[in-house]
Amino acid sequence: MSESSAPRFRVLMFPWLAHGHISPYLELSKRLSENNFHICFCSTEINLNFIKKSKTFDEISSIELVQLDLPDLPELPPQHHTTRNLPLHLKSTLERAFYMGKANFQNILSTLKPDLLIYDAPQSWISELAALNHIPSVLFIIVAAVNLSFFYHAVNCGIDGTNEAYPFPAIYYRDYETKKMIAMSQESKESLPEDAAFSPKCFELSSFVLVKSWREIEGKYIDHFSFSCGKKVLALNLLNVQDDDTKEEENNSHIMKFLNGKDESSVIYLSFGSEYYLSKEEREEIAHGLELSNANFIWVLRFPVGDSIALEEALPEGFLERVKERGIVVDGWAPQAKILEHPSTGGFLSHCGWGSVTESMYFGVPLLALPMFYDQFLQARLAEDIGVGIEILRGENGQTNREEVAKAIKMVALENEVGELLREKARELSNQMRGGGEGVLHEAIKKLKDLCSKNK
Ligand code: UDP
Repeated sequence: MSESSAPRFRVLMFPWLAHGHISPYLELSKRLSENNFHICFCSTEINLNFIKKSKTFDEISSIELVQLDLPDLPELPPQHHTTRNLPLHLKSTLERAFYMGKANFQNILSTLKPDLLIYDAPQSWISELAALNHIPSVLFIIVAAVNLSFFYHAVNCGIDGTNEAYPFPAIYYRDYETKKMIAMSQESKESLPEDAAFSPKCFELSSFVLVKSWREIEGKYIDHFSFSCGKKVLALNLLNVQDDDTKEEENNSHIMKFLNGKDESSVIYLSFGSEYYLSKEEREEIAHGLELSNANFIWVLRFPVGDSIALEEALPEGFLERVKERGIVVDGWAPQAKILEHPSTGGFLSHCGWGSVTESMYFGVPLLALPMFYDQFLQARLAEDIGVGIEILRGENGQTNREEVAKAIKMVALENEVGELLREKARELSNQMRGGGEGVLHEAIKKLKDLCSKNK
């Protein structure tokens, strides 16, 4: 049967409500629509409004947006039905509201009757509802396989980092990180009904698992996780799409002009993703670290809605004036991939969100890792273990320290043997990742089609 006469399968894409999740889901949607799938993309109204404005949305030939309605809790009005600009203290409330959207999602499933559900939101009721509606489901997970491998192990053996049976000791948590993780998991337990917690049930009901990864960087973790959960796990070799609210050409050209005027590999790019906001102390330590380092930099600073302050006030007094020849601070959002691709960028000081880590590796830029929470710690460790990153050491209680920030920046940005070694390794890894090609993606698409056909 030719491709054009093949049946058009309806796939319902249901990512978690964060930009870092929606973006790879859009990228996969684009690839699926090129392969004769009809895409139904489900998210909250505020997220759908962002999606409609994105370039990728226009590039997907067959897509309909499906609105997920969440209850209008007094502390969580509709403009907060997204993690974009969500104040941190409301994160667990959003998870609770999301859980309360279950009945609405059941209506969506029974009305749309998709041939397939692809999801990643970390609550087990989603795959259970799909099974009840006789819809096959596939997890497409956008965190690193290193996390899946570790957490699956941790669920059975504890998370204290001392269990010898885990085969990759290089990635264990440090003490303060373990404490932070335990505190966070308790916090979400308090806010969510019991059966909504991230559970092995999420994996059990999935036909197979797709990961946003490359075998070139995570082969051993992919295999370990696959063995542990008993599911086939396929890496997709997909980067995040880079379309967002950065249509501010003026801002972008200012950044590009800055990069064009600097020496090769001499600029450190600093960004902490779409969900994390630096505290005042962290901002100050990083600013002082940048001053001590004497290196060139581009620093993206974000503030949650309602807490926005002028850069001059957010940073130590006189900072912007003192560094103006060698650094710029971007308020809000920067064209990350373009910056990482630029030859003047020599290092990325990052919170180590998986999107940022894979982009850094793909563009051959060493990482200066300053992980903040959740999956970021292990992703930082992965980069270090592969030899393309160094971790910025923290104080005993996890506090960011200006001397350590400066030390790491000097090591990578200025002429230095460590920086050169990291860059050489990063270039090598970048070539391997680019060489990996799209064969794996096509294998995954074929498996998705087979799954839909079987269920017809
Ligand atoms: N990003 C960007 N400009 C910014 C900040 C982030 O383009 O100023 C993009 C970045 O390229 C990445 C995504 O947003 O693709 C952030 O994803 P990541 O997994 O690194 O972090 P998260 O936002 O999930 O914490």
